[in-house]
Amino acid sequence: MREARTGNNKFLKELNQAIILDLIRTTEGVSRKALADRTGLSATATGAIVKELLKSQFIREVGEGESSGGRKPVMLEINPNSYYAFGFDIDMRFIYAVVLDITGKVHYEERWENRSHLSPEEAVEQIGRIFDSVVRDLRLRKDRILGVGVSIPGMLDITTRRIYLAPNLGWTNVDIRESLSEKLDVPVYLDNEAMCSAFCENWLGICRGVEDFICINIESGIGAGIFVRGKIYRGHTGSAGEVGHISVDENGPRCKCGNVGCIETLASINAMAEKYRELISKTHPDASENTIDENFDALLQGAHEGDQTCLKIFKGAAKSLGKAIGYLINAFNPQTIVIGKKFPKYSELVLDDIALSASKTALTHLAESCSIVPSSFGENSSALGAAIIPVRKLFGK
Ligand SMILES: [Zn+2]
Repeated sequence: MREARTGNNKFLKELNQAIILDLIRTTEGVSRKALADRTGLSATATGAIVKELLKSQFIREVGEGESSGGRKPVMLEINPNSYYAFGFDIDMRFIYAVVLDITGKVHYEERWENRSHLSPEEAVEQIGRIFDSVVRDLRLRKDRILGVGVSIPGMLDITTRRIYLAPNLGWTNVDIRESLSEKLDVPVYLDNEAMCSAFCENWLGICRGVEDFICINIESGIGAGIFVRGKIYRGHTGSAGEVGHISVDENGPRCKCGNVGCIETLASINAMAEKYRELISKTHPDASENTIDENFDALLQGAHEGDQTCLKIFKGAAKSLGKAIGYLINAFNPQTIVIGKKFPKYSELVLDDIALSASKTALTHLAESCSIVPSSFGENSSALGAAIIPVRKLFGK
């Protein structure tokens, strides 16, 4: 737990406010006295902060707790339906949009179709349109919107937050944050897609309270958000987590990065759909016309119906992914590896294969202390995580 500090300047005041707010968030039923005891702040200082938080409606009073003699203490909790945050995930084919309140409750969730090759300007326009219509429909007050987080499937400059490469969108060196902030008139935060999903797992999902974990997204590509000691790990230039380019087969297919046998070429949705297309086109030549999504859906259906050829494709991909996960377990010693995006659609078919394969490359005691689990969010995790960025800031994270 973070210790509060005494003093009068604005920075300390905000810091202590965030610490108290976070204690209220993470402790079910907490009184003013308990807050003072746990932060080391005086009863007067705690009382003043609580009063301000109540006035701005970040928190509310709820009933009375057990008394340890004397008057029963009034309990405090985060006020639902008071402040909101938006999250957008710009994907190749869709824009996912969500609205959360500060308790993490989802108030809006929608998937909007894109035309392919969306330009940065079009993305800004579309996000602006969605934002305006949702603000209107939910009757949100602008001063109650903490901010907008945007998840980008690409690499961002760690200091300027410019997007320097989003290959699937075809964007290089673009800045959409400034134009979005101007358009929406609220703070805008950009982050990498897998890192957003990791925020989602850490705040709302299976990795709540887990300090060391890796969130792997299986999509058209493969990427990861890595948490080390409770914080996102960005690496030297901000691009840590490019795990899709861990090579597990020196005789494997050529990857667009130039290397061979990267797990992205073996275990991504595109790789599995392509393998299915190759197989099926021998007997059904018209299947070559199908899109990646159509082929993947057919593969998924086949595997769930027990088709051995389809199952073999999933199990082959799982073996490669598991091998890479074993390397990650050795390098990071995580408590949890959570696999998300499209993975939950087929996780029950392959989870054992992944664990078995990971156990062959990971050291035994590291593998035994790490659980490999599917995400409970699916494809919305990056939009949810993006919305959590402004919420986290309120709690001093
Ligand atoms: Zn590669």
